[in-house]
Amino acid sequence: EKLFSGFSKTRDNLAVVDELLLYWNLADTDRVLDELEEALLVSDFGPKITIKIVESLREDIVAGKLKSGSEIKEALKKNVLDLLTVKGKTELQLGYRKPSVVMIVGVNGGGKTTSLGKLAYRLKNEGVKVLMAAGDTFRAAACDQLEIWAERTGCEIVVAEKEKAKASAVISQAVKRGKEQGYDIVLCDTSGRLHTNFSLMEELIACKKAVGKVMPGAPNEILQVLDGTTGLNMLPQAREFNEIVGITGLILTKLDGSARGGCVVSVVNELGIPVKFVGVGEGVEDLQPFDAEAFVNAIFS
Ligand code: GDP
Repeated sequence: EKLFSGFSKTRDNLAVVDELLLYWNLADTDRVLDELEEALLVSDFGPKITIKIVESLREDIVAGKLKSGSEIKEALKKNVLDLLTVKGKTELQLGYRKPSVVMIVGVNGGGKTTSLGKLAYRLKNEGVKVLMAAGDTFRAAACDQLEIWAERTGCEIVVAEKEKAKASAVISQAVKRGKEQGYDIVLCDTSGRLHTNFSLMEELIACKKAVGKVMPGAPNEILQVLDGTTGLNMLPQAREFNEIVGITGLILTKLDGSARGGCVVSVVNELGIPVKFVGVGEGVEDLQPFDAEAFVNAIFS
């Protein structure tokens, strides 16, 4: 429901296409596809994906494979669903050896700390023993914020022992504790950074290395949080983070607001990284596993 209401603006953009499809006949093809192109562009699908979708539909209409408005609509939904389906697993991938380590990365304000808290709550309810690492040592309030989430979820947390501690030191300490005390998973928060800030990006590499030193093969997941209200900005962000640390999955947040999540189709398709979770609010239960079909239905209902 939250996902559905979050995409109301995108559905408004597409309303004219729906109307045309209702009374569709072959002579309308160009007009419908022009309107669809416009609606997808305004909804932040990006030019490359928009053209891919529109031209694939045009081909099938011209070939006589799609003979009615409802067939075109179904083909449109299937097209987007296919673009959202990549090889990577959408479930969280955990290792055989304990603890598995998940790093949460992304730009400031996207919802990293909140998503980490919500993920901890989810996992704890599934019987997983979770340790949090307050690796956002750059922003003082981030640690307090994560401590509140630790309390809220009943999870243990490792925080920096001294001011200006290195993020990699806090994370390394947390993974060591996770290993010694039999935790199933260590969730590591990291500082928000612009993808163009090279020294902070280097710090991320150091964090990743620090994890691998304690647990060879880890981190098991590096999840990038993308703010669902930022539209096309998410593509360069995801590209850069992926190049530098290798992203294994995406968390798309704030889909309950005025979501401009169309761009995620471009991100998934271009980078081949699956969306693993979506954030639909600020409460503990507002993180859901990504359901591509529900996502497509919320946009093209
Ligand atoms: P960080 O800087 O990336 O760690 O971002 P925060 O976790 O501090 O989140 C920034 C703001 O976004 C906070 O006010 C959160 O409550 C809010 N937020 C995070 N995720 C969601 C979401 O899925 N929906 C809504 N509506 N707000 C969210």
